[in-house]
Amino acid sequence: DAANSRKRLLLKVIVLGDSGVGKTSLMNQYVYKRFSLQYKATIGADFVTKELQIDDKLVTLQVWDTAGQERFQSLGAAFYRGADCCALVYDVNVAKSFESLNNWHDEFLRQADPPSPESFPFVLLGNKIDVDGGHSRAVTEKRATEWCASKGNVPYFETSAKEDLNVDEAFLCAAKIAQTAG
Ligand code: GDP
Ligand code: MG
Repeated sequence: DAANSRKRLLLKVIVLGDSGVGKTSLMNQYVYKRFSLQYKATIGADFVTKELQIDDKLVTLQVWDTAGQERFQSLGAAFYRGADCCALVYDVNVAKSFESLNNWHDEFLRQADPPSPESFPFVLLGNKIDVDGGHSRAVTEKRATEWCASKGNVPYFETSAKEDLNVDEAFLCAAKIAQTAG
């Protein structure tokens, strides 16, 4: 009914970051509660959806994956169009994936062209914290939180798609801040 549909929200979150950081794995863990160590390029659907209740609102969260196209940096305008939140992912064990964040951040704002870029909601996920019991870390939590502060207090989560650590929390945060997109 009308009252209900006014409360029902469709939110589009797009997930960006270097190839191999675990974007597809995080989404699979979040939506299907499954994980595979076998590497396969993303094929098929452009997005997965999850129904959420946030306060009194029913929310359909659309999480968009890059279908492996991030290697070519050619994701196409349709990918970015209407995004309500951008989840940036890097691998805490791979410094280069952290150093790419500025590019992904700026490329997102350039392509999505949101009405108020300075306040557009981003969330950062430092993934694969399970690897080698943390001994192969290349990026400290401090360095990551400093980056987040420099971008206007971007929320930060240290995650493992493999061990299902902080995955729900990160996407719930993305959904919550997505509601603030202009
Ligand atoms: P994408 O290219 O960013 O989509 O990355 P994928 O989700 O395809 O993951 C790349 C590889 O990293 C795959 O072999 C995954 O199984 C593995 N992987 C992803 N997340 C994790 C994690 O949290 N921990 C570990 N140990 N491996 C992961
Ligand atoms: Mg992928």
